[in-house]
Amino acid sequence: MEDCIFCKIIKREIPANIVYEDNEIIAFKDIQPAAPIHILVIPKKHIPSLVELTKEDEVIVGKIYTIINKIAEEQGVKEKGYRVIVNCGKDGGQEVGHLHFHLLAGKPLGEKIV
Ligand code: 5GP
Ligand code: ZN
Repeated sequence: MEDCIFCKIIKREIPANIVYEDNEIIAFKDIQPAAPIHILVIPKKHIPSLVELTKEDEVIVGKIYTIINKIAEEQGVKEKGYRVIVNCGKDGGQEVGHLHFHLLAGKPLGEKIV
């Protein structure tokens, strides 16, 4: 089966502005930023969605949050704050089928749904 778009970014088959990478996680700028800082933080493992998460993925999800905080610090927004969004499935508005965490920051982020 063909790799998804984010797996292609991981394999450097399509370009992205990468801001963080280790052996398990990669983070890159969203191609259509919804805020001055809009970074996607993803596991390198192809997990299609939060609904596909398994027990063995619990550690990587925890690590992703630590990395998000590290990136926020590097981007200079840790003090002012940021928002993390995970769209999940059809009703959640997920468009790319590879688990990703949106890190949004750099301005007041406006209306909250919750
Ligand atoms: P979703 O709607 O699935 O939660 O978010 C997918 C995000 O991926 C969108 O914000 C979209 O702009 C971003 N995106 C889609 N294709 C690409 C791409 O090829 N490169 C980058 N950097 N971001 C992408
Ligand atoms: Zn993938």
